[in-house]
Amino acid sequence: MTSAEPLANPELHDVPTAAGGAEPRVELPLPPSRRVGEGIDWARIWPFLVLQASCLLVFVVGWSPVAVITCVALYLVRMFGITAFYHRYFSHRTFRVGRGMQFVGALLGAAATQRGPLWWAAHHRQHHRHSDTPQDAHSPIAHGFWWAHIGWIACRRNYATDLDQVRDLARFPELRWLDRNDLVVPFALLGGLLLFGWGLETWAPSLGTDALQMGVWGFSVSTTLLFHATASINSLAHLIGKRVWPTKDKSRNSMALALLTLGEGWHNNHHWCPGTARQGFRWWEIDLSYYALVALSWVGLVHDLRPIPARARDEARRIRG
Ligand SMILES: [Zn+2]
Ligand SMILES: [Zn+2]
Repeated sequence: MTSAEPLANPELHDVPTAAGGAEPRVELPLPPSRRVGEGIDWARIWPFLVLQASCLLVFVVGWSPVAVITCVALYLVRMFGITAFYHRYFSHRTFRVGRGMQFVGALLGAAATQRGPLWWAAHHRQHHRHSDTPQDAHSPIAHGFWWAHIGWIACRRNYATDLDQVRDLARFPELRWLDRNDLVVPFALLGGLLLFGWGLETWAPSLGTDALQMGVWGFSVSTTLLFHATASINSLAHLIGKRVWPTKDKSRNSMALALLTLGEGWHNNHHWCPGTARQGFRWWEIDLSYYALVALSWVGLVHDLRPIPARARDEARRIRG
């Protein structure tokens, strides 16, 4: 099914608003002051560039199994923080959690070093509202691959958090604090990794690691891979893969991206029906974040995972039929 007809039922495009309802997609003319390429904020983007460059230190510090395992483990845990919490919870409110668990989810997402939960959710809601139009800050269709992948986050105008987009979240002071101080958790993680590496070097020298090696693998490499995997959903998931649903945007489904991002690669499914906690709709559409959320619901840490709505199932049958 590769039809590109506009979606018959625009309600399926809903994104949460402050009132919790659906807001229709609005397309406005792009002001001349918001041209792509304008206003790269070099003063604020250089730590990000240093982080990427510091991956080259692997040639200096070498590697050890424990450092690589830490890198992979932190990738997986923090990707879950991004996909399950920053995306499916904070941006789309597709399940419920208690306030304590909400904060834990925010900390997990913040550890990914992709700024604060309110910033992330506000920009993501804008993405759904204006997908693949000039108002979409990271559309590869409207602005090109590299802008969608990395350029937009370096841009001065995209640094601020538009609290009007996330009034439902901004009423929690702990989330506002985390949003204002979005480097606290990444630096705490880096400090913890350096200490961990130093401890292993001191008390378990046979593991062959040290503080610097743990910092480079556990933080630099893991965080850089995490960034590019997440960014690939903004860039590649609107360019490669299969279009199954006739959404107005150009989102696509890709198994490779889904495996890389714990389920986010079923991006056409997600744009078709952003209000559900699952992104893999069929049994073979592997969605590890959703499986983990189901497991968390069994132990009572998350509640009310929103299923695919009946009207979406009806629409799916109509399209497939
Ligand atoms: Zn998208
Ligand atoms: Zn989304």
